[in-house]
Amino acid sequence: MTTTRIAITGAAGRMGKMLIEAVSLASNATLAVALERPESSLIGADAGELAGLGACGVKVSGSLESCINDFDVLIDFTAPQATLANAKVCAANQKALVVGTTGFTHEEEETLLAYQSQTAICKAANFSTGVNVCLNLLEKAAKALGDDYDVEVYEAHHRHKVDAPSGTALAMGQSVADALGRDLPAVSVYGREGQTGAREKETIGFATVRGGDVVGDHTVMFMGEGERIEISHKASSRMSFARGAVRAATWMCLKDAGFYDMRDVLGLKVGS
Ligand code: NAD
Repeated sequence: MTTTRIAITGAAGRMGKMLIEAVSLASNATLAVALERPESSLIGADAGELAGLGACGVKVSGSLESCINDFDVLIDFTAPQATLANAKVCAANQKALVVGTTGFTHEEEETLLAYQSQTAICKAANFSTGVNVCLNLLEKAAKALGDDYDVEVYEAHHRHKVDAPSGTALAMGQSVADALGRDLPAVSVYGREGQTGAREKETIGFATVRGGDVVGDHTVMFMGEGERIEISHKASSRMSFARGAVRAATWMCLKDAGFYDMRDVLGLKVGS
């Protein structure tokens, strides 16, 4: 069995620490590099200790370029601008990249996509198996229910989350929109207040709640006359995301340049 050498950036973040733990639990991966912002006071700290595990001998670095030959795949759960800078370096050096960061603008997303000609990139708004199974269920439900059911997406997250709606909520909305042949940006409604008028048919509404330590709740409602279907996912630990991202990283190691998502990793794409 080959062992994938993994680099984790954003190592001191909520997901970064969880990823360090997930790599330590994986039999086919090893933590080779840990990175943080160059100005971080944690540069030089032991990555294992940072994650609340024992010392692992990997010191947190502030420079991706200086470690570029030491790893096979970079896992990046940071912030859009940081991820784009890292993607540029990975692409130039043909290093595979797993992107968990959310909140990209359309232009930033396009910039990231363009690097797929140089290296393998796996990006998912949510790396948990459960959410990716939900995306498939949503497609099936939307196709079966058609345009007679109103679709609303609800999501709740912890008080520190900086983007809204969550990337997962948008991915769920996208699955439904694709299945129904709708253009998501054109049909999205991101909030309601005052005299909104009656609900417009074929819109997809998003409702966002922020507070406490909620790891991530998502519910898509299909509401018809006399009945309602709800497809829900509730994350109770970030470990589900971290394990999925590490699984994606070991899978990516064998892939050619191109753009992949977690449904590719899990073999959940229609026809696969
Ligand atoms: P966080 O704020 O706890 O951690 C982000 C970390 O990135 C911080 O430690 C920060 O110092 C670091 N960072 C920022 N710029 C950097 C740079 N240039 N170089 C190195 N490190 C840098 O945030 P979090 O809760 O861990 O979430 C991070 C991102 O992951 C968010 O966009 C979040 O929405 C996303 N997320 C995605 C999934 C998924 O499954 N795809 C799951 C959870 C969170």
